[in-house]
Amino acid sequence: MSGPALIAGGGPAGAAAAIALARAGRPPLLLERTREAHDPVCGGFLGWDALASLARLGIDVDALGAHPIRRVRIVAGEHVAEADLPRPAAGLSRRTLDEALLTAATRAGAGVERGVTIRRAEGRTLHLADGSALSAPALFLATGKHELRGLARPARQPRSVGLRATIPAGAALTRALAGTIELHLLDGGYAGLLLQEDGRANLCLSIDPARVEAGGGPALLGALTQEAPLLVERAAGAAGWSAIAGVPYGWLARATEPGLFRLGDQAAVIASLAGDGVAIALAGAGHAAAAWLRHGPAGAPLHQRRFAARAARPLGVAGLARFLAERPALRPAAMALLGLPGALPLLARATRIGAAQ
Ligand SMILES: Cc1cc2nc3c(=O)[nH]c(=O)nc-3n(C[C@H](O)[C@H](O)[C@H](O)COP(=O)(O)OP(=O)(O)OC[C@H]3O[C@@H](n4cnc5c(N)ncnc54)[C@H](O)[C@@H]3O)c2cc1C
Repeated sequence: MSGPALIAGGGPAGAAAAIALARAGRPPLLLERTREAHDPVCGGFLGWDALASLARLGIDVDALGAHPIRRVRIVAGEHVAEADLPRPAAGLSRRTLDEALLTAATRAGAGVERGVTIRRAEGRTLHLADGSALSAPALFLATGKHELRGLARPARQPRSVGLRATIPAGAALTRALAGTIELHLLDGGYAGLLLQEDGRANLCLSIDPARVEAGGGPALLGALTQEAPLLVERAAGAAGWSAIAGVPYGWLARATEPGLFRLGDQAAVIASLAGDGVAIALAGAGHAAAAWLRHGPAGAPLHQRRFAARAARPLGVAGLARFLAERPALRPAAMALLGLPGALPLLARATRIGAAQ
């Protein structure tokens, strides 16, 4: 099998791998099903590790208008814990970030084809919606939250529903969220709020599927009036809801077959309240590209094993934080712990994968 490596999916993981391979003189072919800029379900938080990886890829988030974030606020009913983040972070919509990354991939020389849906995979052969098939010596699987038939992740992880909307931020909300990521702890999940580049607030919820009724996001907010009054007040005017089901928090790919490199959410799914999924996607992409360039198909199992070892700590800490945060009975103890000096920055640090190397 010859020809360029194939990349399935053009989110942060796929685009970052495309940039790395093209820069190394081995331009891949990336296939992405969306035709144009879109906003996937994501909180839009970029930690300092994600920012460092993006800078290496030539993405200037300040030039994209990212909202600088220096503080974290956790709200649980009437209890509030707040602290400075260890290092500066940012809020940026995925619509803007993903487009910047795909543009950079094209500029670096990668083939980027949009509006191409991959129906299924058979080993390193991709079957496309138009009936054609493509094969390559290396397949970088970066379909993210979405399973690809033939290579789906096992279904034993606890699965959550993700919801996203934007809120037109008036003066009071802009003041409240200036420089801050705000997390509201809920029974069976959490909601995150931050300001993004267009001045609107990004509202993202991750919640137990049993809590999401037929009415989706608006109905869920309606049901939270007693439990999270401040969140409900902040979310007034939330619109443009989107949702994704079956997010397998805790999934970690430790093995793979030669030539098949799993990236991003196909490699490791960190509890989203940690806000490190994009950083993991970027770091894993660099790791996989280097393994392919150095070892060829044999680099895939090596990459998967080594990257899993690197991701295990942030995933484990984030999973524990999620367990505590989602259970109302444990929440007073968790909030008391988070109120201790240095506890929140320590937690923020322990849930970072680190920058791409
Ligand atoms: C509720 C929630 C909130 C989150 N908040 C944050 C946050 O604030 N900060 C953070 O860092 N992370 C956050 N995350 C995690 C983050 O969204 C993911 O970790 C990140 O998007 C993974 O990037 P990826 O490139 O692997 O996948 P994705 O971003 O999902 O990209 C996959 C791409 O593949 C394409 N694709 C999928 N299937 C096909 C197909 N069959 N054919 C062709 N193309 C296909 C899709 O269109 C998409 O563009 C959150 C996750 C959830 C669920």
